[in-house]
Amino acid sequence: TPPTHISEDLYRRARVVIPDGVNRATVDRDPRPDYVGWGRGAYVHDVDGNGYLDLNNNFTTLIHGHAFEPVVEAVSRTLKDGSCFSNPTVHEINLAELLCERIPAVEQVRFVNTGTEAVMFAIKAARAATGRPAIAKIEGAYHGAYDWAEVGQTGTPENWGSPEAPFSVPCYPGQPRSVTDDVVLLRFNDADGARRRIKAHHEQLACILIDPVPSRAGLLQPDEAFLTAVVETARQYGILVIADEVLNLRQSYSGASARFGLDADLIAMGKIIGGGFPIGAIGGKKTAMAVFDGQGGRPLLPQAGTFSANPVSMVAGFASMRAMTPEQFERLERLGDHLRTRLRQVIAKYEAPFSVTGSASLFRLHPRLQAPREYREAYLSRNEADTMRQLGRHFKKHGIILPFGAAASLSTAMGDTEIELIVDAFEKALVCEELAA
Ligand code: PMP
Repeated sequence: TPPTHISEDLYRRARVVIPDGVNRATVDRDPRPDYVGWGRGAYVHDVDGNGYLDLNNNFTTLIHGHAFEPVVEAVSRTLKDGSCFSNPTVHEINLAELLCERIPAVEQVRFVNTGTEAVMFAIKAARAATGRPAIAKIEGAYHGAYDWAEVGQTGTPENWGSPEAPFSVPCYPGQPRSVTDDVVLLRFNDADGARRRIKAHHEQLACILIDPVPSRAGLLQPDEAFLTAVVETARQYGILVIADEVLNLRQSYSGASARFGLDADLIAMGKIIGGGFPIGAIGGKKTAMAVFDGQGGRPLLPQAGTFSANPVSMVAGFASMRAMTPEQFERLERLGDHLRTRLRQVIAKYEAPFSVTGSASLFRLHPRLQAPREYREAYLSRNEADTMRQLGRHFKKHGIILPFGAAASLSTAMGDTEIELIVDAFEKALVCEELAA
């Protein structure tokens, strides 16, 4: 029999030296974290001897699952020659060329270390280009930890403000008013509202930050008319459009904006382009990227970072992305379509109050019949949050990690066997746990 107390002991040790015991607020602790020993392909194994099908994939990063052999091989080889230098290496050019070749809006790229940093520098680039301070963003959308990008993704219905003028809810006590004052919130899929709000604040707005498929806000599907309204209004007032594709680049071979018809000036990237290593990137049209280019002198926006474009992340990202051929994207999409269809069939069979959102390799279950189209519809009441936690516990009992309040993701390491495991766990949950009530 496997030992069962190691995670318990580790968590006790961790809480002494690490506040809250973990290094990211998003770690599942129901009631404590499971410390991972190792992962391979679609599965992770904790130190207590349990194995799980991993639908978290480090929050959608691992598009090939764990310990993908080409990444392990490329990183091992690179490490022997040193892991970081103050000089550039050929590896950053290889990955930049790959991204420029695939993503229509990306003519040039600068590499950083996280999605947070990518979003931050994209916003700064828009400010430097326009000379304006403020940003508009989607209510409820998550974009990492840059101050302005953090506004308006927390709070409860009591402090959201009216749908016509969503309130810029601060992210933490003491967040400067100067920050919240420079954030204009738009509601997803509300084209008229977006036009009105952008117009009203256009003199201050440098950019509109938009994830075409906001995941934390509900993994919402965009209306083409909404995206068009946002872009047209932005162009009218010389405001830049920043697509946050940190999570959604995996929507297609050419990314999310290309898939959904969002004509972005700048694209923030991260997650899958690092093959499991820390990464972020700002890409865009040459005109928008020109702020980084000083032609040997001081650029409008100097951007640097000790680990930017480090060779380990570059070769890992290149190995991982190169293996993501158009055929692999198509295969993942078919797998995702099949899974979403099966989940919906199960929901219909039991007339269960659930719905499914998502596309390509991403999906999210919602504890209500009608799939949400914007954040306020996707927001979970306390009872609904309890239902989703119960569902998560049930999945775990069946050996599956289902992320709470975030997008679940498939990887190329998965196939029909894994889809059946997921559908079977969901069906059993509806029957056994009386979630169908
Ligand atoms: N933007 C989006 C849409 C994200 O999903 C994330 C990470 N979940 C970020 C930005 C921040 O990326 P990172 O965690 O690498 O800083």
